[in-house]
Amino acid sequence: MENIQAVHNGKFDFLDNIKISPLSRAYTFSDSVYEVIPFFKSNIIAYDKHIERLKKSCAALSFVIDANYIENEILELINKIGFENGYVYYQISRGVDPIRSHMFDNKLSIETFGYVVEHSFSPQKIKVMICEDLRWQRCDIKSTSLLGNVMSMNQAKDKGCGEVIMHKENIITEGGASNVFFTDNDCVYTPSLSSNILPGITRDLLINKLKEAGIKVEEGKYSLDNLLKSKSIWLTSSTKGLALVTHIIDYDLQLDLENIIFKKCETIFRDNFLS
Ligand code: PMP
Repeated sequence: MENIQAVHNGKFDFLDNIKISPLSRAYTFSDSVYEVIPFFKSNIIAYDKHIERLKKSCAALSFVIDANYIENEILELINKIGFENGYVYYQISRGVDPIRSHMFDNKLSIETFGYVVEHSFSPQKIKVMICEDLRWQRCDIKSTSLLGNVMSMNQAKDKGCGEVIMHKENIITEGGASNVFFTDNDCVYTPSLSSNILPGITRDLLINKLKEAGIKVEEGKYSLDNLLKSKSIWLTSSTKGLALVTHIIDYDLQLDLENIIFKKCETIFRDNFLS
């Protein structure tokens, strides 16, 4: 691996040089949370929202954190690099346990780990597989415990797809690593926030900007049928931006790849955050 700047428990080094204990609870239990924080032309996109979500994820798992320490590590990582467009991966775990045990010792010190890489933010088009949402019931916590997502996304990969759209008992939840939007050319729809989906920051930024631009947006409970009847579908995330869904495998859908509403959304997003 080339020289990727990283940090572990306050010590900055190249990623290759960082060593983590096998008794880190991130390793034994996925007892850890994370953020992916994008920056474009050296401006961090929605920095405060990412820090706020990280704090919420930590609070949900009763991690006691020093926000200044964490913010310094994230900002210092970005200061160290020689490129303008990229993202920071930043993870906080409950810490290293003296012995593997589900029940943790309250005195553990949290463990931080992060690295920064270059990323182009070029527009993406994605082929998608629909699948049952296999995950636990607190997907609103940005935990590194992602086995449901990993299993489904790799099944999708084997079928030539770049993402999944998941549903729980026929109600659309989200993508494997993204939120879902669709339109019938009248309104833009996206599943409302619940414990079944991650409150995506790109989702939030897009909804606010669309409303400001006078585009109708509705957050609600949508069935697979609602999705499959739409004219255009796209996924949002900090690294994908807005990614247009070109095909849904196993369904014979006629998606409009030149959809005017999607194009408007993409332009609004680019003009506000990626220009
Ligand atoms: N849902 C899931 C499951 C994700 O992993 C992600 C990407 N982190 C998102 C939604 C999109 O979130 P954001 O826009 O904050 O990157």
